Amino acid sequence: MRSDQSFEDYRESMLDYLWSEIEPHAEEWDETGDLPREELWDEWQEMGFLGAMAPEEYGGLDLTQREYVELEKEWAKVSGGLRVILHVHNTNVELLDHVGTEAQKDRWMPEIVDEGASFAFALTEPHAGSGTDIETHAEKDDDEYVLNGEKHHITNADFTEYFNVITRTENGFSILVVPRDADGFTIREMPETMGSHGSEHCYLHFDDVRVPEENLLGREEGSGVRDAVDHLRVSRIYIGANALGISERCLEEAVNWAKMRVTFGKPIAERQAVQQYLGEMARDVYALRLAVEDAARQVDEKGRAGIEADLCKLMAKDVTQRVTDNAMLVFGGLGYYREVPVQRFYRDARLNWLEEGTPSIQQITAAKNLLNGEYPYELDEQAVDHLDNPVDEYDSDGGNEYELSYEL
Ligand SMILES: Cc1cc2nc3c(=O)[nH]c(=O)nc-3n(C[C@H](O)[C@H](O)[C@H](O)COP(=O)(O)OP(=O)(O)OC[C@H]3O[C@@H](n4cnc5c(N)ncnc54)[C@H](O)[C@@H]3O)c2cc1C
Repeated sequence: MRSDQSFEDYRESMLDYLWSEIEPHAEEWDETGDLPREELWDEWQEMGFLGAMAPEEYGGLDLTQREYVELEKEWAKVSGGLRVILHVHNTNVELLDHVGTEAQKDRWMPEIVDEGASFAFALTEPHAGSGTDIETHAEKDDDEYVLNGEKHHITNADFTEYFNVITRTENGFSILVVPRDADGFTIREMPETMGSHGSEHCYLHFDDVRVPEENLLGREEGSGVRDAVDHLRVSRIYIGANALGISERCLEEAVNWAKMRVTFGKPIAERQAVQQYLGEMARDVYALRLAVEDAARQVDEKGRAGIEADLCKLMAKDVTQRVTDNAMLVFGGLGYYREVPVQRFYRDARLNWLEEGTPSIQQITAAKNLLNGEYPYELDEQAVDHLDNPVDEYDSDGGNEYELSYEL
């Protein structure tokens, strides 16, 4: 985005680029998995995609959340592979901006914005759950950390220069920035996925990898992951935006097809059964759009993501599930063929279900935040006074009396 350009004009130029330069190749990249990332990287840097969330002082676009979700939505609408690569790149830029010290930002932001360097995010492990039971650990040895452990499913690990590795340290969980060429660090590509082809995911192994202490992201041991938790919540809104892009595309394809396909002398769009599919799809798209816009706007206004971000991610799963199912049904038998795009989006959508956490874990997270007093709307004081068990008196052991006309 040039300094004299409005976001609307920038968005228009991005759409021109995506539909003329990316969309015509998306099907082929899906089929072969050969998205020419290296060739496209300069174009993406030129378009500002790589510095979309980097601060202006480093030459980034410094987009608001409300603006950025528009980018992610449009990327998802044309190519799942492109969307995944840019999603991971940008969430890591934001992580650096949110968690890094000034010295760390001065060191890595120019490399990202000017030279197109990229970071991957490495939390998930093959032999542990994605949370406090991770096994990767780093011990301090003078002014270095010695890192041991393994990670898998790590997106963009086929090319990134750096890895934000979540590890145990003496004082809590920390993020260590590990350069690709560190001694003792090996990377192996994982097998092909069902969708979002063109993005790659790898297995990482750390065998006594020495990382300088200045690569500990954040102020002190333990602070990086604590500070990152808020940030990671924001990216749940981006998953909602991705699901929205896929759902809008499926809705547009389905309406188009319903008007063209004639059976028993009439376009199927005239049949109430097909209209029911289309009506349900439109309802889902509208609800998710409002949720994503509202959640992003709230982060812009309040500076942090609330329960709305958790709910966006939950809605993303339900909406893409129903919309991609319905789109396949509108297309009938043809929907099952590779050359019809809905099957590609059906497969791409399944990643929204589990990236950055599964729906069941997301439901638990949303419920915990709700029990801690976060509602997805402004609580009315009178309604709170009316309750017997308001949040500030909540006791997880239970036992508060509920006034009933009979004894329990
Ligand atoms: C294509 C792709 C890209 C990815 N990219 C990255 C990446 O870049 N970086 C990264 O760190 N990770 C990445 N992941 C990993 C992803 O975030 C995890 O797969 C996801 O969070 C689920 O973790 P898991 O695979 O270990 O599932 P598991 O933990 O094995 O879960 C299996 C099932 O058990 C349930 N379950 C597990 N534990 C509990 C519990 N305590 N209570 C209740 N239910 C439970 C889960 O909800 C799920 O239904 C990627 C995954 C894929 C497929």
